[in-house]
This record gives sequence, C-alpha cells and structure tokens, in this order.
Amino acid sequence: MLPSFAFIFISQGVFMILFVLVFIFALYAQIRVSSAYSKNAQIPSRGHITGCEAAQAVMAHAGITDVEITETEGHLTDHYDPLNKRLVLSSENYRGTSLAALGVAAHEAGHAIQHKNGYAMLNFRMALVPATQLVSKVVPFIILASWFLVRGLTGIMLDVAIICYAVLSLFQLITLPVEFDASRRAKVQLVELGILDRDEMPGVSQTLDAAALTYVAAFIGALLNLLYLLSRRD
Ligand SMILES: [Zn+2]
Repeated sequence: MLPSFAFIFISQGVFMILFVLVFIFALYAQIRVSSAYSKNAQIPSRGHITGCEAAQAVMAHAGITDVEITETEGHLTDHYDPLNKRLVLSSENYRGTSLAALGVAAHEAGHAIQHKNGYAMLNFRMALVPATQLVSKVVPFIILASWFLVRGLTGIMLDVAIICYAVLSLFQLITLPVEFDASRRAKVQLVELGILDRDEMPGVSQTLDAAALTYVAAFIGALLNLLYLLSRRD
C-alpha cells in the first residue's frame, strides 16, 4: 500500500536514545511553560487592563466585531474557536491583569486576526482538523496493539500507523507557524495599543516563547514516531 522507505535506517538503539531525549525535551518545555506562566501571572501590568479587555482592544483595532469573548474554567484552557468565532479565555486570564494574562489573551486575539485575514497556514490547519481528530482516535488502538503483537506492528497495521503519524506530524508542523505568528502579532499589538509598556514585554515574551516550545516538542515527538515506523518497514 505504501512505497518502500528502506532508505530510512536508524538502529533500534539510536531510536531509543532519541525517544528519551525527546521525552526530556517535552518535559523541559512543560516545566518552562508552567514556571514562566506562574511567575508572570504574579506580575500585574501597570495599566491594570484585564485579559478580556486586551483581547477586545486587539480585535477591535483589527476591525473584528463578530468574535465573542467567553470565560471558561480550567488552567490554560485558553483558545480561539474559529468555527464558532469564539475567543475562549480561562478565568485567570479573562479577569487577570498580569503580564501572563495579557500575553495569552492577546495571543488568542492574534488567532482571530489570522482568521479574519485568511492567513493560509491557519486555513490549512483548520482543514486538517477532521483528519487529525480521526487519527487521534485510531492511534491509542495502534499503540495498544503494538504492545500485544509479538513481532510489533507489521503489514497493513504498520501502514495505518504510518499514515496516522504522517497526518499528526503534518498537523504539528503547520501548528508551528500559526502559533509563532499569533504570538508575534500579540507582542506588536500590546505595545502599539499602549496596553503594556515596552519594559513590561520581557514577561510576555517569556510566557509566549515557553508555550511555543511545547509545540516544537509535540512536532518533534510526532516526527520521531513517524521515522521509527518508517524504518520498521522493509
Ligand atoms: Zn495559539
């Protein structure tokens, strides 16, 4: 069903080392995002503008009037929902006036601007969502099967696993420019609109850059799984 990928040859031992390194990197990214967020969530901005107000101001400046901002429970559950044109902020960022809250809120507003401008990478990412959701449901079964099969994944099962991880890798890859661009827009807008002073920006950058690192880790993890599966094919 798939062509040969015999040119990808990495020994089992090297893969194991790479998996451990990627795991450590993912852990490091997670710890960094938690510590950067909690540190900057303690630093109130001078302007005392809330995350909700900041997101509103950034979107209004971009001429966006049809996106609803809603508050949700949970820690770092913030996201932009392009299908329902809804900007969802966690309570601490919706009501908070900290550097972290403003950074996250402006970042999500950055996604709303991408959507309004028809940013190609966001459209591509949105188009991949149904396939990614389907694949994410299949992957746990594949992992489970690989534990019980004596020879590991082979034949059609291996090909299905390869297709799944190819979709996941592509999705994570497209996520990178989308996330980087949203953070870049957020940083520019926070200063340009006078929501934050320039000397308050390092706290915002620290928070958003740490978050970006977790997306890089997710992409490398998916890619490594894909390469491993491809190398198992003869
Ligand atoms: Zn984002």
